Amino acid sequence: MVRLTRFSLLSSIHNLHQCLDSLLQANKAWANRMKANDPMFFEEHKKGHAPKILWIGCSDARVPANEMIGEPPGSVFVHRNIANQVVQTDFNCMSVIQYAVDVLQVKHIIVCGHYDCGGVKAALTNVDHKSPLENWLRNIRDTYRLHKDELDAIKDLTGRQRRLVELNVVEQCLNIFKTAVVQKRRVQTHFDALEPGSDIPFSTPVIHAFVYEPTTGEATKLRVDFKQYLTELHDIYDLYKMEKEEEPTPLPTTMIQDKDGNEECVTDVLTKSLSGEGDM
Ligand SMILES: [Zn+2]
Repeated sequence: MVRLTRFSLLSSIHNLHQCLDSLLQANKAWANRMKANDPMFFEEHKKGHAPKILWIGCSDARVPANEMIGEPPGSVFVHRNIANQVVQTDFNCMSVIQYAVDVLQVKHIIVCGHYDCGGVKAALTNVDHKSPLENWLRNIRDTYRLHKDELDAIKDLTGRQRRLVELNVVEQCLNIFKTAVVQKRRVQTHFDALEPGSDIPFSTPVIHAFVYEPTTGEATKLRVDFKQYLTELHDIYDLYKMEKEEEPTPLPTTMIQDKDGNEECVTDVLTKSLSGEGDM
């Protein structure tokens, strides 16, 4: 163990103060640069913010949300945690999604994972990382369980890590799609999109899966088959529990009404909502 003498301790504190001073100086320089580039930049921020993108990414310092997609401050609503998880019992993440979808009415939700993710790598080891971290990593271990056959078949450890990073992103996109707030908004905006002259001709929010390569700085889009998910699992996850009275089915049929008062199964509406160009 390194023992700090009184002198070295004072020296460390002094260095820390110097470091913080330089951060604040850098902040002032940045603010001045932004004002020089656009004198109205901070004036605009007095009005509040109206981002069109919700970003859910990893806390990894190499994956900065705004910078890597070239978006300025004010345009991306950001949530980050270890391994970009969307956990239904995480009030923090659920609150962010609710606010982004209900209040900000974001048009896109991007889940961005990254290769060489420490959280994913940790979940691939048989080590107890102790609570609460191990509890968090358990979610990634559960994703492994869902795709065990595919992952076990990859003998190269790095290849297996990379594939689990991708599957983890896809799984989190499905977790977003399961939420009541997203299902409800997509159904609402599906009907809005059908209106003549609609500003946005597709259902929102559109959910995108990205994976980022820290060694090149490039992100790629992963395919998420929401339609297959709806076909296979809607009996479990559909959330509009207005049961159809005639023709009872073994499981509750989830019905909603369109703007003309016609009843439709929420799964049919959500499936149609995926045919818009925004989901391509
Ligand atoms: Zn990570």
